[in-house]
Amino acid sequence: MGKTIAIFNQKGGVGKTTTNINLAACLALKGKRILILDIDPQGNTTSGVGISKKGLTRTTYEILVDDTIAPEEAIMHTSVENMDIIPASVQLAGAEIELVQLEGREKRLKKAIDKIKSNYDYIFIDCPPSLGLLTINSLTAVDSVLIPIQCEFYALEGVSQLMSTIELVKKSLNPDLQIQGVILSMFDGRTNLSIQVVEEVKKYFREKVYTTVIPRNVRLAEAPSYGMPITEYDPKSAGAAAYHEFAEEFLDLEAEE
Ligand code: ADP
Ligand code: MG
Repeated sequence: MGKTIAIFNQKGGVGKTTTNINLAACLALKGKRILILDIDPQGNTTSGVGISKKGLTRTTYEILVDDTIAPEEAIMHTSVENMDIIPASVQLAGAEIELVQLEGREKRLKKAIDKIKSNYDYIFIDCPPSLGLLTINSLTAVDSVLIPIQCEFYALEGVSQLMSTIELVKKSLNPDLQIQGVILSMFDGRTNLSIQVVEEVKKYFREKVYTTVIPRNVRLAEAPSYGMPITEYDPKSAGAAAYHEFAEEFLDLEAEE
C-alpha cells in the first residue's frame, strides 16, 4: 500500500512545489512508483513538469468537485519514468467556495486518493498556501505531512498556526496524521542568518528536521520555466545533488520505521 504525504506550509514561497517536484523525481529515479497531485490553483507543480494548464479537463478539480471522472482518469505520465501526475487547472481557484456546500466536503480528496493508493509507493500532494478546504482535504487524505521551511528571517512565523491546523485535523478528521519531517530550503551557508534559522528550527522540531538542507541554487529556480525537474534540467547542479541526498535520507528514515 502506498504512503500519502502532503507538502504543507501555509506560507507561500517556502519551497513546497520545488520540493514536491524534485524529491518526487529523485525517488522515481530510484525506482519508486510516484504520483504527484497538484491541488494548488496556481498549478506550479503542473507547469513545473512541463504540462500546460490550458484546456485540461481531467484534473484535481474534476475528481474533487465534479465527481464526473474516476481518479485514475486524471493521471498523466511525466517525462520522468515512474512519476505520474494529477494536474491542477485554474478552476481549482473556485473549488474552495464550491466545496463548502458539497457532501463530505473535507473528505472528498481522501475518497479519491484511497482508490489509487495501491498503485504507487508514494503520493505527494502539493498544497496551496492557505488554510482553506483544499488544504483541509489534503491533510485529511494523507498519512503524513512534510513541512518545508525557508531559511529566512521570519522562518518560524506562522509555524504555530501550521501546527494547530495539523492538530485540528488530527482531532476531527484524521487521527493518524503524522509529521513526516521538516526540510530546510534555500539555505545560504555564507550568511549567519541561514545558520541561525537552522538552529532555531531544530530547537522547535527537534529530530523531525532532516539532516539534509536544500541550498539556494539558481538552477532550482530556473528549472520550472523549462518544465523540467532538476534531475533533467541540470543533473550535475548543487540543487540536484541536494535533492538526491534528501531522497536518500527520506528513504533511510522510512526503512527505520
Ligand atoms: P511554494 O510552493 O512554497 O510557494 P516554491 O517551491 O514555488 O515555493 O518556491 C518559491 C520560489 O523560490 C520559486 O520561484 C522557486 O523556483 C524558488 N526556489 C525554491 N527553492 C529554491 C532553492 N533551493 N534555490 C533557489 N530558488 C528556489
Ligand atoms: Mg507552490
